[in-house]
Amino acid sequence: MSPTHFAQRLLTWFEQHGRHDLPWQQNPTAYSIWISEIMLQQTQVSTVIPYYQAFMQRFPELATLAIAPLAAVLHQWAGLGYYARARHLHQTAQILQQYHSGQFPPTLAAVMALPGIGRSTAGAILALAYHQSQPILDGNVKRVLSRFHAIAGWPGQPAIAQQLWQLATAHTPIQEVAAYTQAIMDLGATVCTRQQPACLQCPVQTDCQAWQTQTVGLYPQAQPKVMRPVKPIQLLLLLDQAGRLYLQPRPTPGIWAGLWSFPECPAAADPITWCQQQLHFTLTNLQHWPLIKHNLTHFQLQFTPVLATVTAIASDPAPDRQQHWFSAEDIVQQQLALAKPIQDLVTRVFS
Ligand code: SF4
Repeated sequence: MSPTHFAQRLLTWFEQHGRHDLPWQQNPTAYSIWISEIMLQQTQVSTVIPYYQAFMQRFPELATLAIAPLAAVLHQWAGLGYYARARHLHQTAQILQQYHSGQFPPTLAAVMALPGIGRSTAGAILALAYHQSQPILDGNVKRVLSRFHAIAGWPGQPAIAQQLWQLATAHTPIQEVAAYTQAIMDLGATVCTRQQPACLQCPVQTDCQAWQTQTVGLYPQAQPKVMRPVKPIQLLLLLDQAGRLYLQPRPTPGIWAGLWSFPECPAAADPITWCQQQLHFTLTNLQHWPLIKHNLTHFQLQFTPVLATVTAIASDPAPDRQQHWFSAEDIVQQQLALAKPIQDLVTRVFS
């Protein structure tokens, strides 16, 4: 099947069967496309929709995002995970305002030079917003092309990725590129799905090499198993006599940078001694909760929450430490940005 033929079949299928009612498809702009593309990285459409709507309501334009405090952006992002995405959005909005008159630059290299924007996202912005013939290669497209061309090997390997980029480029049409881009993403999301693809409804089935050889399940090859190093810690859930929780902003750079969290005590340390030395707090009523495992990109965080009551605070705490005690209402009113596992613990403490 020629590349043009492939695109034509997808376009015809898309008209009838594609998704046309996603919130970011209504009056799309480069800004709305960018926000949705970043949110959709590593996150399902159904999860993204409410976050996207709330985000666009709070930051309807690039200019609003650029002048907002980072804490407000992180608060809006809280729960979506991969918080570097939110920090990069904020940084990129400021760069675009300052150096590009609030617009995305029109070349692939210039868009890719912006923080947090890889080749596929840059291609999607240029194809969907500026109708440039630029290929994309997100997870859905990788799956479709790996199967259609029966490409063996894990798409994360540079040689396989390069092969898939070549194919993606060859298939991307000059005309109707925005519709084609949406069509191939939709095909991957709704027909050529990870589990049980609906090959009988696929517009390119007759020429799909995986289908022809009945080997659809072999593609794309899974990532070889990696053992993440484990980082064990204790998270100290400290309540004062008034029932307020002690939270600290997390350092930058690092995981959950800029978000609020509990003090982190080494796994082998005694929380009472550690608190006395580090925070000048005296603890009582310690309760060790069951271990929680949380996978991050490069390691697995294994944390034991330790709930305790602070009975005394030495008179020389750091000057700003007074402001670190929060009731459940304070957390909501002050819109503290919390990572999902921390939010879950806060909810549990106050429930
Ligand atoms: Fe995917 Fe099946 Fe279509 Fe091949 S025929 S592209 S495996 S849905």
